[in-house]
Amino acid sequence: MGTALVYHEDMTAARLLWEDPECEIECPQRLTAALEGLQQRGLEQRCLRLVAREASEAELGLVHSPEYVALLRGTQALGTQELQALSGQYDAVYFHPRTFHCARLAVGAALQLVDAVMTGAVRNGLALVRPPGHHSQRAAANGFCVFNSVAIAARHAKQKHGLHRFVPVWLQRVPCPSVVPELSVCRVLIVDWDVHHGQGTQYIFEDDPSVLYFSWHRYEHRRFWPYLRESDADAVGQGQGLGFTVNLPWNQVLAPHPRPPPRAPHPAHIPLPEPPLLPRPTWPCLQFDPELVLVSAGFDSAIGDPEGQMQATPECFAHLTQLLQVLADGRVCAVLEGGYHLESLSQSVCMMVQALLGDPAPPLSGPMVPHGSALESIQSVRAAQAPYWMSLQQQGAAPVLSPSTCSPEGKPSPLLPWGPEFKAAATQTMAALSSLLDKLCLNPTPPVRTAVALTAPDAALVLPPGVLCQERSALPEEMQAWARPHKALAQDKALTALGKVLYLLDRLLDGQVSSGIAATPAPATAATLDVAIRCGLSHGAQRLLCVAVGQLDRPPDLTDDGRNLWLNIGGKEAAAPSTFHVCVPLPGVSGGVMRARPLALNCPSWGNCGCICPSEIGSFQPDLVLVALGPAHGLRDPQAALLTALLRGPAGGRVLALIDEESTPQLVGVLARVLHGEAPPSLGPFSMASPEDMQALMRLRGPLEPQWKMLQVAGEAGVGVVRLRVSA
Ligand SMILES: [Zn+2]
Repeated sequence: MGTALVYHEDMTAARLLWEDPECEIECPQRLTAALEGLQQRGLEQRCLRLVAREASEAELGLVHSPEYVALLRGTQALGTQELQALSGQYDAVYFHPRTFHCARLAVGAALQLVDAVMTGAVRNGLALVRPPGHHSQRAAANGFCVFNSVAIAARHAKQKHGLHRFVPVWLQRVPCPSVVPELSVCRVLIVDWDVHHGQGTQYIFEDDPSVLYFSWHRYEHRRFWPYLRESDADAVGQGQGLGFTVNLPWNQVLAPHPRPPPRAPHPAHIPLPEPPLLPRPTWPCLQFDPELVLVSAGFDSAIGDPEGQMQATPECFAHLTQLLQVLADGRVCAVLEGGYHLESLSQSVCMMVQALLGDPAPPLSGPMVPHGSALESIQSVRAAQAPYWMSLQQQGAAPVLSPSTCSPEGKPSPLLPWGPEFKAAATQTMAALSSLLDKLCLNPTPPVRTAVALTAPDAALVLPPGVLCQERSALPEEMQAWARPHKALAQDKALTALGKVLYLLDRLLDGQVSSGIAATPAPATAATLDVAIRCGLSHGAQRLLCVAVGQLDRPPDLTDDGRNLWLNIGGKEAAAPSTFHVCVPLPGVSGGVMRARPLALNCPSWGNCGCICPSEIGSFQPDLVLVALGPAHGLRDPQAALLTALLRGPAGGRVLALIDEESTPQLVGVLARVLHGEAPPSLGPFSMASPEDMQALMRLRGPLEPQWKMLQVAGEAGVGVVRLRVSA
């Protein structure tokens, strides 16, 4: 299962034939720059190349009116003056005699990609197209967009690949009598991360509950194009589609960094996008349980872009892509929308394709402090959507009546100037970023992406191609030195397992292996984890995150020096909790009966994908992650896989998973696949966290928030707490 790249060079044929400063940025070089970037980094060669076909007029008719299609067909025969006159009838649009052909290819590319993904020929892919599509409406071109490729792709997916996997549990969501059972057809999530609101797509699906449209965009209280009231957080769809339009508007944009970061050129110091640019494609998305994810992948929010004037660095798009890959069994189809700074666009596209190919995303860096205005926007979305989504009901957000970005009289604060100074600062930052990224590219990726070290061979274990079965072990004297303080490691079997763990850990730290899984006898798990933490910290890890699930206690004499963050889920309450020692006991599942535990993760730096794990991970920025499934961890394989997949985010994919040697080969296989970049299996029907668990998390959050600012993103009730699934 690979990644498709759909393209046709004819899509560079349309161009602006007259002077128009507004439209000139939508130029053919956008595609060639992106493609050259992919070729230079060897990414194009790793994809399945598909030559785009033209969409048929019947396919265009899935969204557009016959009159509009006929009008566009007619543009092929028009002269320049007539084209200019016709273009003037629309907002920010230009036509060229080849526009009809290009726009049909753009739609065809999106359809081919959907077909390739839905038939299982590839796991995911990118359609590299122009003109863009998300502003285009049933009978109108708008904002450089002619045909709405993503909207047509969504209708096509429903029509041609409609699935009936199960009646989704979200039908049991909040009282919404208008929702009817036939909605068990194909559910499509459209995530629109272009800096502009895709109003065209919103209009097309606003009353359709089988398509969840989730857009985040620059808004500034309606002073950013397209200046629409319906781009705000309280536009939630209509009729049967209530709650299936989610708009997250950014009302304040921060000035770009005036100069390159002082500690350059280490890649870890790449300037950070302002936190508002890292939204969480979250809340309702997991509950919606899409069968296909379409991305309106605009890169005009990327750093240096003259349209967006925002600061998302390229690796942000790798993280966003990774986040979406945990949905819909990884069926993600991205279609290019905006993006007008050629270098920034090219680098962002490369990062996205790397993530689609399963490569770990480079770590994010910089201060992880959410902007007040962004928190207000998130709260407004929660308040507006809560009536429609069970997953938001326990969070209790009130709408923001007096946004901080408005004066007491309700007038929005002034827009940032886009003058020469602003441009110079953006260009300077971009130049610094460019040289940093070049260095990042030169850093060799580890030769082995995933290695598995078992205590004994298992014939039933099926590993994906490219996963290494590691037999080697650390030197006996090293093993014995580390094992000496631990009784549990005295036995030969435990010591042998420890030797393999230590060897694997060293390969992770010296850059030979990206991620790994190691098995240990159950009674030795805590001691092995203790050794792995100490060994990791003494052999080069600067900040180590340990996620221990189940009955595992933090090593008692571990130094609380800020270099290690211990997070225990489902164990005992911490006797002496601190900001680096967090225990989430989850009382709602206690009681002695062995049940699948709810997994609680809310990871703001790379999104609270519906589970709860301390948001603080986002602020901690580890360079090594240890995840241990200890006694009574209670996770089902898909839950363990989701947890592990999410933990690939913060440390550039450097994850060591420690499991009990009695674990099934299925668990080992599924963890190996997610560490190797594949999507975790579906979690199945959605269910909520228990009130007890919610309360436990709320209590936990208060003392932590002053240190871990990203917790604020989780909303009023400490949240993102979702019980993924509880099976009896
Ligand atoms: Zn845009």
